[in-house]
Amino acid sequence: MILHTNKTYQIGEITVTKIEEMRLNVAPPSFLYPAWEPEELESNLHWLTPSNMDATTGNLIQSIHTWLVRTRHHTILIDTGSGNDKERPKNPIFHHLNTPYLQRLAAAGVRPEEVDYVLHTHLHVDHVGWNTRLVDGKWVPTFPKARHVFPKLEEDYYGSPESHNDVNVPSLGVFEDSVAPIVASGQAERIGNDGGEYLDNFTFRPTKGHSIGHMSIELRSEGQQALFSGDVMHHPFQVVRPDWNSVFCEWQDEARASRRWALEHAAEHKLLFFTPHFAETSAGYVTRQGDRFAWRYE
Ligand SMILES: [Zn+2]
Repeated sequence: MILHTNKTYQIGEITVTKIEEMRLNVAPPSFLYPAWEPEELESNLHWLTPSNMDATTGNLIQSIHTWLVRTRHHTILIDTGSGNDKERPKNPIFHHLNTPYLQRLAAAGVRPEEVDYVLHTHLHVDHVGWNTRLVDGKWVPTFPKARHVFPKLEEDYYGSPESHNDVNVPSLGVFEDSVAPIVASGQAERIGNDGGEYLDNFTFRPTKGHSIGHMSIELRSEGQQALFSGDVMHHPFQVVRPDWNSVFCEWQDEARASRRWALEHAAEHKLLFFTPHFAETSAGYVTRQGDRFAWRYE
Protein backbone atom coordinates (compact mmCIF):
# COMPACT_ATOMS: atom_id res chain seq x y z
CA MET A 1 0.00 0.00 0.00
CA ILE A 2 1.28 3.43 -0.90
CA LEU A 3 0.73 6.04 1.78
CA HIS A 4 0.78 9.57 0.49
CA THR A 5 2.31 12.24 2.63
CA ASN A 6 0.80 15.52 1.65
CA LYS A 7 1.71 19.12 2.02
CA THR A 8 0.15 20.85 5.00
CA TYR A 9 -0.96 24.46 4.64
CA GLN A 10 -1.14 26.96 7.47
CA ILE A 11 -4.01 29.47 7.61
CA GLY A 12 -3.34 31.50 10.74
CA GLU A 13 -3.41 28.93 13.53
CA ILE A 14 -5.26 26.34 11.42
CA THR A 15 -3.71 23.57 9.30
CA VAL A 16 -5.14 22.06 6.10
CA THR A 17 -3.99 18.75 4.57
CA LYS A 18 -5.29 16.86 1.54
CA ILE A 19 -6.36 13.26 2.10
CA GLU A 20 -6.48 11.62 -1.30
CA GLU A 21 -9.12 9.12 -2.26
CA MET A 22 -8.26 8.62 -5.94
CA ARG A 23 -6.81 10.14 -9.08
CA LEU A 24 -8.86 10.16 -12.24
CA ASN A 25 -7.60 10.09 -15.78
CA VAL A 26 -10.79 9.28 -17.63
CA ALA A 27 -12.41 12.45 -18.97
CA PRO A 28 -11.67 13.82 -22.43
CA PRO A 29 -12.18 17.61 -22.28
CA SER A 30 -15.01 17.31 -24.81
CA PHE A 31 -16.88 15.11 -22.32
CA LEU A 32 -16.22 17.13 -19.17
CA TYR A 33 -17.02 20.41 -20.94
CA PRO A 34 -19.92 20.33 -23.40
CA ALA A 35 -18.89 23.83 -24.60
CA TRP A 36 -15.30 22.69 -25.19
CA GLU A 37 -13.43 24.47 -27.98
CA PRO A 38 -10.48 22.45 -29.34
CA GLU A 39 -8.74 25.74 -30.34
CA GLU A 40 -8.12 26.43 -26.64
CA LEU A 41 -5.82 23.44 -26.37
CA GLU A 42 -2.65 24.62 -28.04
CA SER A 43 -2.16 27.86 -26.11
CA ASN A 44 -2.67 26.01 -22.80
CA LEU A 45 -0.66 22.84 -23.43
CA HIS A 46 2.44 24.26 -21.73
CA TRP A 47 0.78 24.12 -18.31
CA LEU A 48 -1.69 21.29 -18.92
CA THR A 49 0.87 18.55 -19.42
CA PRO A 50 2.08 16.42 -17.83
CA SER A 51 0.10 16.64 -14.57
CA ASN A 52 -3.23 18.20 -15.60
CA MET A 53 -3.71 16.39 -18.88
CA ASP A 54 -2.48 13.00 -20.01
CA ALA A 55 -0.28 13.74 -23.01
CA THR A 56 -0.97 10.30 -24.53
CA THR A 57 -4.75 10.08 -24.23
CA GLY A 58 -5.59 13.78 -24.03
CA ASN A 59 -7.76 13.04 -20.99
CA LEU A 60 -7.93 15.57 -18.19
CA ILE A 61 -6.32 14.48 -14.92
CA GLN A 62 -8.39 15.05 -11.79
CA SER A 63 -8.42 14.10 -8.13
CA ILE A 64 -11.01 13.14 -5.55
CA HIS A 65 -10.02 13.89 -1.97
CA THR A 66 -10.99 15.35 1.36
CA TRP A 67 -9.48 18.38 3.06
CA LEU A 68 -8.51 17.71 6.66
CA VAL A 69 -8.73 20.90 8.72
CA ARG A 70 -7.30 21.06 12.22
CA THR A 71 -8.09 24.00 14.47
CA ARG A 72 -6.90 24.36 18.03
CA HIS A 73 -10.07 22.65 19.24
CA HIS A 74 -11.47 20.59 16.40
CA THR A 75 -10.74 18.03 13.70
CA ILE A 76 -12.82 18.76 10.61
CA LEU A 77 -13.23 17.19 7.16
CA ILE A 78 -14.41 19.15 4.13
CA ASP A 79 -16.44 16.70 2.00
CA THR A 80 -15.91 12.93 2.16
CA GLY A 81 -15.14 11.58 -1.33
CA SER A 82 -16.90 8.59 -2.85
CA GLY A 83 -16.62 5.82 -0.24
CA ASN A 84 -15.99 2.08 -0.47
CA ASP A 85 -18.41 -0.71 -1.45
CA LYS A 86 -21.11 1.64 -2.78
CA GLU A 87 -23.52 0.33 -5.43
CA ARG A 88 -23.10 2.68 -8.40
CA PRO A 89 -23.83 0.45 -11.40
CA LYS A 90 -24.58 3.47 -13.64
CA ASN A 91 -21.34 5.12 -12.63
CA PRO A 92 -18.38 2.67 -12.84
CA ILE A 93 -15.86 5.19 -11.46
CA PHE A 94 -17.63 5.01 -8.09
CA HIS A 95 -18.92 1.41 -8.20
CA HIS A 96 -17.66 -1.03 -5.52
CA LEU A 97 -14.57 1.01 -4.67
CA ASN A 98 -11.93 -0.31 -2.33
CA THR A 99 -9.54 2.57 -1.62
CA PRO A 100 -7.26 2.96 1.44
CA TYR A 101 -8.79 6.35 2.26
CA LEU A 102 -9.20 5.62 5.97
CA GLN A 103 -5.61 4.35 6.15
CA ARG A 104 -4.46 7.61 4.59
CA LEU A 105 -6.50 9.53 7.14
CA ALA A 106 -4.89 7.43 9.88
CA ALA A 107 -1.44 8.16 8.41
CA ALA A 108 -2.27 11.85 8.87
CA GLY A 109 -2.94 11.08 12.54
CA VAL A 110 -6.75 10.95 12.54
CA ARG A 111 -8.93 8.00 13.58
CA PRO A 112 -12.61 8.14 12.48
CA GLU A 113 -13.88 8.69 16.02
CA GLU A 114 -11.64 11.76 16.32
CA VAL A 115 -13.48 13.68 13.59
CA ASP A 116 -15.63 16.38 15.22
CA TYR A 117 -17.24 17.94 12.16
CA VAL A 118 -17.77 17.14 8.49
CA LEU A 119 -18.65 20.21 6.42
CA HIS A 120 -20.23 19.46 3.04
CA THR A 121 -20.22 21.81 0.05
CA HIS A 122 -23.01 19.73 -1.51
CA LEU A 123 -24.43 16.20 -1.51
CA HIS A 124 -23.23 14.72 -4.82
CA VAL A 125 -21.82 11.18 -5.10
CA ASP A 126 -18.12 12.14 -4.71
CA HIS A 127 -18.64 14.43 -1.70
CA VAL A 128 -20.59 12.29 0.77
CA GLY A 129 -19.31 8.74 0.19
CA TRP A 130 -17.21 8.26 3.32
CA ASN A 131 -20.07 9.46 5.51
CA THR A 132 -20.92 5.78 5.80
CA ARG A 133 -19.27 2.38 5.52
CA LEU A 134 -20.69 -1.08 5.07
CA VAL A 135 -20.81 -3.13 8.29
CA ASP A 136 -22.69 -6.45 8.31
CA GLY A 137 -24.70 -5.39 5.28
CA LYS A 138 -25.72 -2.02 6.74
CA TRP A 139 -24.54 1.52 6.05
CA VAL A 140 -23.29 2.97 9.33
CA PRO A 141 -21.71 6.35 10.05
CA THR A 142 -17.94 6.24 9.47
CA PHE A 143 -17.32 9.15 11.82
CA PRO A 144 -19.49 8.24 14.81
CA LYS A 145 -18.96 11.46 16.79
CA ALA A 146 -19.01 13.95 13.92
CA ARG A 147 -21.64 16.57 13.23
CA HIS A 148 -22.34 16.54 9.46
CA VAL A 149 -23.15 20.04 8.28
CA PHE A 150 -24.67 20.73 4.85
CA PRO A 151 -26.97 23.14 3.00
CA LYS A 152 -30.59 22.38 3.83
CA LEU A 153 -31.67 22.85 0.22
CA GLU A 154 -29.39 19.96 -0.82
CA GLU A 155 -31.11 17.59 1.61
CA ASP A 156 -34.59 18.81 0.64
CA TYR A 157 -33.88 18.17 -3.04
CA TYR A 158 -31.62 15.11 -3.15
CA GLY A 159 -33.71 13.42 -0.49
CA SER A 160 -36.90 13.95 -2.49
CA PRO A 161 -38.48 11.95 -5.33
CA GLU A 162 -38.12 15.06 -7.51
CA SER A 163 -34.37 14.38 -7.88
CA HIS A 164 -34.94 10.65 -8.46
CA ASN A 165 -37.32 10.79 -11.38
CA ASP A 166 -34.68 9.82 -13.94
CA VAL A 167 -33.35 6.32 -13.20
CA ASN A 168 -30.24 7.16 -15.21
CA VAL A 169 -29.03 9.91 -12.89
CA PRO A 170 -25.52 8.84 -11.89
CA SER A 171 -26.14 9.71 -8.27
CA LEU A 172 -29.15 7.46 -7.78
CA GLY A 173 -28.98 5.84 -4.35
CA VAL A 174 -26.39 8.25 -2.97
CA PHE A 175 -28.73 10.03 -0.59
CA GLU A 176 -30.10 6.73 0.68
CA ASP A 177 -26.77 5.04 1.47
CA SER A 178 -24.60 8.05 2.36
CA VAL A 179 -26.82 10.81 3.77
CA ALA A 180 -29.98 9.21 5.18
CA PRO A 181 -28.02 7.12 7.74
CA ILE A 182 -26.42 10.34 9.05
CA VAL A 183 -29.83 11.97 9.38
CA ALA A 184 -31.18 8.85 11.11
CA SER A 185 -28.32 8.82 13.62
CA GLY A 186 -29.04 12.44 14.57
CA GLN A 187 -25.67 13.68 13.28
CA ALA A 188 -27.02 16.06 10.60
CA GLU A 189 -27.02 19.82 10.92
CA ARG A 190 -28.38 22.15 8.23
CA ILE A 191 -27.24 25.50 6.86
CA GLY A 192 -30.01 27.85 5.67
CA ASN A 193 -30.26 29.14 2.10
CA ASP A 194 -28.30 32.32 2.81
CA GLY A 195 -25.31 30.43 4.22
CA GLY A 196 -23.64 32.01 7.23
CA GLU A 197 -20.95 31.60 9.84
CA TYR A 198 -20.19 28.27 11.43
CA LEU A 199 -17.91 27.57 14.40
CA ASP A 200 -15.35 30.34 14.91
CA ASN A 201 -13.60 30.25 11.59
CA PHE A 202 -15.96 29.19 8.81
CA THR A 203 -18.55 30.91 6.61
CA PHE A 204 -20.80 29.02 4.19
CA ARG A 205 -21.16 31.06 0.97
CA PRO A 206 -23.97 30.16 -1.43
CA THR A 207 -22.50 29.20 -4.85
CA LYS A 208 -25.44 27.35 -6.34
CA GLY A 209 -25.62 25.99 -9.87
CA HIS A 210 -23.41 22.92 -9.95
CA SER A 211 -26.02 21.58 -7.55
CA ILE A 212 -29.22 23.11 -6.22
CA GLY A 213 -27.91 24.42 -2.91
CA HIS A 214 -24.15 24.23 -3.44
CA MET A 215 -22.02 26.32 -1.07
CA SER A 216 -18.35 27.20 -0.89
CA ILE A 217 -16.81 27.39 2.57
CA GLU A 218 -14.57 30.24 3.62
CA LEU A 219 -11.96 29.79 6.34
CA ARG A 220 -10.42 32.64 8.32
CA SER A 221 -7.78 32.69 11.02
CA GLU A 222 -5.55 35.50 12.29
CA GLY A 223 -6.16 37.67 9.24
CA GLN A 224 -5.51 34.90 6.72
CA GLN A 225 -8.22 33.57 4.42
CA ALA A 226 -8.93 30.50 2.34
CA LEU A 227 -11.84 29.17 0.32
CA PHE A 228 -12.94 25.55 -0.03
CA SER A 229 -14.54 26.11 -3.39
CA GLY A 230 -16.51 22.91 -3.85
CA ASP A 231 -17.47 22.06 -7.42
CA VAL A 232 -17.61 25.57 -8.88
CA MET A 233 -14.77 24.18 -11.01
CA HIS A 234 -13.62 20.65 -11.90
CA HIS A 235 -10.28 21.40 -13.55
CA PRO A 236 -8.05 24.51 -13.81
CA PHE A 237 -9.11 24.84 -17.44
CA GLN A 238 -12.17 26.64 -16.02
CA VAL A 239 -9.99 29.34 -14.49
CA VAL A 240 -9.04 30.12 -18.09
CA ARG A 241 -12.59 29.55 -19.36
CA PRO A 242 -15.08 30.35 -16.56
CA ASP A 243 -17.89 30.25 -19.12
CA TRP A 244 -17.49 26.44 -19.45
CA ASN A 245 -19.79 24.44 -17.21
CA SER A 246 -18.96 20.84 -16.46
CA VAL A 247 -21.26 18.11 -17.74
CA PHE A 248 -22.21 17.56 -14.07
CA CYS A 249 -23.47 21.12 -13.47
CA GLU A 250 -27.23 20.99 -12.98
CA TRP A 251 -28.28 24.68 -13.21
CA GLN A 252 -26.33 26.27 -16.04
CA ASP A 253 -26.61 30.05 -15.62
CA GLU A 254 -26.25 29.90 -11.84
CA ALA A 255 -23.19 27.64 -12.15
CA ARG A 256 -21.46 30.18 -14.41
CA ALA A 257 -22.36 33.08 -12.12
CA SER A 258 -21.10 31.25 -9.03
CA ARG A 259 -17.83 30.33 -10.77
CA ARG A 260 -17.24 33.94 -11.73
CA TRP A 261 -18.02 35.10 -8.20
CA ALA A 262 -15.58 32.58 -6.71
CA LEU A 263 -12.79 33.56 -9.12
CA GLU A 264 -13.28 37.30 -8.54
CA HIS A 265 -13.56 36.82 -4.78
CA ALA A 266 -10.42 34.65 -4.67
CA ALA A 267 -8.37 37.03 -6.81
CA GLU A 268 -9.48 40.16 -4.97
CA HIS A 269 -8.84 38.80 -1.47
CA LYS A 270 -5.81 36.64 -2.42
CA LEU A 271 -7.54 33.60 -0.93
CA LEU A 272 -5.76 30.28 -0.81
CA PHE A 273 -8.16 28.29 -2.98
CA PHE A 274 -8.73 24.63 -2.03
CA THR A 275 -10.40 22.69 -4.83
CA PRO A 276 -12.03 19.26 -4.66
CA HIS A 277 -10.96 18.02 -8.11
CA PHE A 278 -7.82 19.74 -9.43
CA ALA A 279 -4.73 17.54 -9.75
CA GLU A 280 -1.22 18.20 -8.31
CA THR A 281 -1.59 19.82 -4.86
CA SER A 282 -5.25 20.69 -5.63
CA ALA A 283 -4.69 24.11 -3.98
CA GLY A 284 -3.45 27.44 -5.27
CA TYR A 285 -4.09 31.06 -6.08
CA VAL A 286 -6.28 32.78 -8.65
CA THR A 287 -4.87 35.96 -10.16
CA ARG A 288 -6.16 38.43 -12.73
CA GLN A 289 -4.42 38.56 -16.12
CA GLY A 290 -6.03 41.42 -17.99
CA ASP A 291 -9.66 40.44 -18.49
CA ARG A 292 -8.88 36.78 -17.78
CA PHE A 293 -7.93 34.78 -14.70
CA ALA A 294 -4.85 32.60 -14.18
CA TRP A 295 -4.13 29.72 -11.80
CA ARG A 296 -0.98 28.95 -9.83
CA TYR A 297 -0.62 25.81 -7.73
CA GLU A 298 0.72 26.33 -4.25
ZN1 LIG B 1 -17.40 16.68 -7.22
